[in-house]
Parts: sequence; structure tokens; C-alpha cells
Amino acid sequence: MQTRDRRPVMLITGASRGIGAAIARAASDVYDLAINFNTNAEAAQALAGELEGTGCSALLHRADVSDECSVVDMFAAVRERFGGLDVLVNNAGIAGSYGGIDTVTATMLAHLWAVNVTGAFVCSREAARIMSTSRGGNGGSIITISSKAAVLGGSGEWVHYAASKGALDTMTVGLSKELAAEGIRVNAVRPGLIESDFHLHAPPGRVERMAPSIPVLRSGSPAEVAAAVIWLASPAASYVTGAFIDVTGGR
Ligand code: NAP
Repeated sequence: MQTRDRRPVMLITGASRGIGAAIARAASDVYDLAINFNTNAEAAQALAGELEGTGCSALLHRADVSDECSVVDMFAAVRERFGGLDVLVNNAGIAGSYGGIDTVTATMLAHLWAVNVTGAFVCSREAARIMSTSRGGNGGSIITISSKAAVLGGSGEWVHYAASKGALDTMTVGLSKELAAEGIRVNAVRPGLIESDFHLHAPPGRVERMAPSIPVLRSGSPAEVAAAVIWLASPAASYVTGAFIDVTGGR
């Protein structure tokens, strides 16, 4: 068993912007943070600057989650810096192209799957290797940012993206059972229409156009998604595994 005379450690993939950055802000009062980014070093550095003085130690780590070697190196860096890992948030994700089935290509699908699905699987594997009690770890928590699109289907916009999130929902159910005896809880959050750069992949004005159709009549903020993640990661959710929290305003 690893000793834990340290603050708990959370690794968030794709935390330079949007929902990932909001999770980092919300977690910083309790956790030391590994902030993963891919292309946007400037935004990741700005976030780390914001967190200075909060008592949170932050490790910035560039890695493309679709690249297995980079992911393995990232987890080694986290272990070396913090001596362990308590929470993995699989947040990094892309939309792929925007449009109906006629726009789908094998090349686009392969990239989408590599980032959204393979990335989350390989990160979960590396986290389990550190956290599993049978390997000397302390247990922990894996939280995956899925999407309500996994249930709604994404018709006319991005069925391919929705399907990749459906794969993550299946991963969540399966790993929650597989890793329960290892002391690892595995859960997911399904955001709905959340204000972020994610919608730059769609025609301009998507959020404003769709907001009135949400039962609560508005889009959501990244901070509202982060609040659900923080609860799932916390001891208050100690008996919660294989669960999904919809943060959708009723959508
Ligand atoms: P976003 O603003 O576009 O941010 C995406 C983040 O993912 C960025 O930090 C980006 O890093 C990172 N990323 C992309 N590809 C990566 C890769 N290959 N390796 C590592 N990091 C990578 O999107 P968001 O809205 O915050 O989305 C976060 C998650 O929420 C995604 O999984 C998305 O599917 C999900 N989600 C979003 C919504 C929504 O309405 N916004 C709804 C449901 C689900 P760089 O900037 O450094 O490249």
C-alpha cells in the first residue's frame, strides 16, 4: 500500500480550456493537479498562473491522449511528481466533423475514436495500474466526461461523436464492475449544452439557437459540470460507482 501523507492528486485530461479548466479551478482547494493539454500551452499556463497562491501544486503536461506512448509518459510524470494518483478525469474530447452521415469518413472516424475512446481507455488503464489495491495502490476514482448525446444520438449533427460517447458509457459500466474490488470507483458525467469552444466545431450560434429548447431555457456553464465531477470524486460519493450524472438542464 502507498502511504498518503500528501494532498489528493487529480489528473484532468484536456484541461487547458472549457470544462477541463473549470474542473481544475473547482478542484484546486482540495487537490494537487496534473493539468494535461495538447495544443494550447498558453491557456494551460494561464490556468496554472491562476491557481498559484491557492495552495494547489500544479503539474502542466503536454500529451496527445490518442498517443499511447505520450499517455504512458504522462502517468509516469504524475507518479514521479506527486507519488501517486487519486482521481483521473477523462475529459479530453473532440467533436469530429459537423454534419449528417454523408460527411462521415473513415479518416475522421479513426481520429475521433483515437482521441475520445482510445484516449480514455489508455488513460483509465494507466490510472488503474497506479490506483489498484492489488498493485499496492490506495484505490481511487475515474470520472469520464461523456455527453447526453450518447443517449440522444446527435442526429443531423454528429452521430459519430455521440457514438464515441456511447462507447465511453459502456466503458464506465464495465470498468466500474471490473475495478470495484480494486478500490476504484468509475463514474461518468453527461453534460448537455455547455458554453465552451467545443461549439466552434458547429455552425456559428449553435448554443444561442438551441438554448430556448432546453427545459430550463438556458445553456449550462463549465462550472456547473465541474460541480458534479467534484462530488463524484469526493468521499461523499464513496458508495457510488457505475453511475451517470446528467448535467443537462433537463434535456
Ligand atoms: P473544448 O473547450 O473544445 O476543450 C477541449 C479540451 O480537450 C481542450 O483542453 C483540448 O486541449 C483538449 N484536447 C483535445 N484533443 C486532445 C488530445 N488529443 N489530447 C489531449 N487533450 C485534447 O471542449 P469542452 O466543451 O471543454 O469539452 C470537454 C469535454 O466535454 C469533451 O469530452 C466533450 O466531448 C465533453 N462535452 C462537452 C459538451 C459541451 O456542450 N461543451 C457537451 C457534452 C460533452 P488543447 O486546447 O490544449 O488542444
